[in-house]
Amino acid sequence: MGKRVDSIERYGKLLLFSLSGNRELIVSPMLTGALMWREPATRVMASTIFIFDMKSGQQLRYIDQKKMGQMYYLSPDQRSEIVRLENQGPDVFDEQLSFDEFLLGLKPFRGEVKGVLTRGQLVSGIGNACADEILHDAMVYPFKKVTRLSDDEKARVHGSDLLGDFESAIEVLRERVGDQIHRKIRDFLSVHGKKNEKCPRCGSSITVITANKRETSYCRACQPGSLFGR
Ligand SMILES: [Zn+2]
Repeated sequence: MGKRVDSIERYGKLLLFSLSGNRELIVSPMLTGALMWREPATRVMASTIFIFDMKSGQQLRYIDQKKMGQMYYLSPDQRSEIVRLENQGPDVFDEQLSFDEFLLGLKPFRGEVKGVLTRGQLVSGIGNACADEILHDAMVYPFKKVTRLSDDEKARVHGSDLLGDFESAIEVLRERVGDQIHRKIRDFLSVHGKKNEKCPRCGSSITVITANKRETSYCRACQPGSLFGR
């Protein structure tokens, strides 16, 4: 492309590269997408979608096993065409929504609470793993329809203080990830991906099921519910 990267910003779960010549590159990695630094001579993995040759001699590669991610190359005035970017709610690291704002924000939604959290329109930046952690913390069944959540459950989801924990985790992750930016370190989580391990709250086994093309981990004892009669 012959472009210079002027800045990189995060918008919810999207990365936005400002490039010279009034262009932008927007990366929406979805579940399995990641950027990776590699020397040109290193083997190109089958999941590699894009390779950018950088002036430093290194390559920035975009890998995506499930190929669900999206990449946009556009000028800033075309941003409005990216629905995923335009519909983002306030970022999860911004000042937390008040409970009233949260209730108001929930109103238009009818779907399952996990789907609503990860979609980004209510709060932007909550991924699959993060949503599992919040719902475990709030003791809410991930597949419950938001319209059927009790006031108490809504208050517990809104009040989950996990977001603060994630903020402090960023520092630790930055250190541990180093230049291996594609690495997903998940061992500090309580439930996500912990199939058959013990729930840290009650000691029951964690259940992991695949629904809507993604894994959901939860504790059947702490987060009771059934796929029928949600
Ligand atoms: Zn439990």
